[in-house]
Amino acid sequence: MSSKMTLHREDRLFIGGEWVVPTDGGTIESIDPGSGEVWATAAFGGPGDMDRAIAAANTAMRGPWKRMPVMERAAILRRFAELYVREADTLSTVESRDTGRPIRDTKPEFPGHAHIWWWNASLADKLGGRTIPMDPSVHVYTTRVPVGVVGAITAWNAPSFLANLKLAPALAAGCAVVLKPSEITPVGAFHLARIAEEAGLPAGVFNVVPAYGNDGGARLVESPDVAKISFTGSTATAKKLLQLGAPTLKRFTFELGGKAPHIIFDDADIEMAINAATSSAWVVCGQSCALGSRVLVHRPIYERVVQAFADRAAMVRVGQPMDPSTHMGPQAHGAQLEKTLGYFETAREEGARLVTGGERVVEGDLARGYFVRPTVYADVHNQMRIAREEIFGPVASLIPFDTEEEAIAIANDTPYGLTAGVWTNNLARAHRMSAEIDAGSVWINTYRFIRFPVPYGGMKQSGWGRENGIEALDGYLETKATAISLTGQFANAYAS
Ligand code: NAD
Repeated sequence: MSSKMTLHREDRLFIGGEWVVPTDGGTIESIDPGSGEVWATAAFGGPGDMDRAIAAANTAMRGPWKRMPVMERAAILRRFAELYVREADTLSTVESRDTGRPIRDTKPEFPGHAHIWWWNASLADKLGGRTIPMDPSVHVYTTRVPVGVVGAITAWNAPSFLANLKLAPALAAGCAVVLKPSEITPVGAFHLARIAEEAGLPAGVFNVVPAYGNDGGARLVESPDVAKISFTGSTATAKKLLQLGAPTLKRFTFELGGKAPHIIFDDADIEMAINAATSSAWVVCGQSCALGSRVLVHRPIYERVVQAFADRAAMVRVGQPMDPSTHMGPQAHGAQLEKTLGYFETAREEGARLVTGGERVVEGDLARGYFVRPTVYADVHNQMRIAREEIFGPVASLIPFDTEEEAIAIANDTPYGLTAGVWTNNLARAHRMSAEIDAGSVWINTYRFIRFPVPYGGMKQSGWGRENGIEALDGYLETKATAISLTGQFANAYAS
């Protein structure tokens, strides 16, 4: 750490409404990816700490949280939203330090996260069931009840945002939560705990225990006292969690990886399409599940689009995340940097045409951090590894196509199915494309339209269930059917 910087310290876990020292965990160092130096230390929990948090969550959920009038529950969530806006500056600074995402992006974005809290607060008192008309001698109704204690496990690319997507609907549904943020970016979660405390959430309703995945994280998934895991991370880890959760038949929501097709037809507004395609191929330094990483371009405009990508790449200011002029920060951690550099090598071996980028930035103070250049490959075909695998770096692979049918075939030739973009001014084609592409979100003449009222999630190996929208609450509720006889009569089955 450079001498002028003060180390940020979080030395306690938040369990049962108290700040406690880890019993079988320890301390994680969080690296500033802009400098490669430690900028913060954070407490992490072991399996024993996770057990304590799970017990606290069960006590809270079956006690004060269950007994609280639902309007009061909603009021606490609204208070959380207000405090989140008040704290947005701090939260966005922490996110930029922890993940390397430019402050130019996080600062304006963070106050808006509060909407997910307001949105879910407004739904908390509308989660009623229905009455089912049947035989007049029986009254049948359903109620929607919390699924139980939720383990929320998040990825490192957008830690606070991802936590909000889980916490707000889970708490609105009446669940209690143990949040396990990624060990790579643990700091923001402690700030969320402080907001929860001040908002008046009863002790134990929300607990924060950073942990290593295969240690405290695995305990959360294996525990018989956790009903549901809401997970954002890679498809490979989700498959491991399925095995860990099998003995207790755990419920899962999975928000996983993507390899989105971003399709540009020659009848589109090409300038707008290029704006969207270049931004969504490099946003968050490529570390987004919704990245438009496979850019499918109609052959008549292919070379024009390739040139436009090269021109835009030259405009991207790669720099330190806390510099307000920076467009693109570093990769968030050393292993991700190595992974992206590895794919540059793979692209070379596979014979993709390097248009620009494809290298680490080694000039000036950026040499110490995990910076790469915005990268464009042309003449990519869909069987290349750079077109099939999630790189999670700022890499656009430009694939030409001749017909609509071919574009659909390439778009769907992937194990993933999270998002897709289509640029066309042909209305019928727009609807046909939406109907044919296997993805949870299809964006026509726009991209990354991720909004709290709109359900978001994956088909195929991109996930199970949805976040955002009313649909998010379904993942945190069980439907209970109650039947009451109005006569009290029950025949003797053995009378004759
Ligand atoms: P990851 O799968 O390596 O880790 C995710 C989380 O799982 C971390 O908190 C980690 O500690 C935990 N974990 C790992 N092993 C575990 C185990 N055995 N038991 C319990 N927990 C365990 O993913 P990552 O590298 O942190 O994130 C990148 C991935 O996340 C990418 O694939 C990206 O597409 C995906 N992602 C998806 C969405 C979405 O909404 N679909 C959003 C953001 C990121």
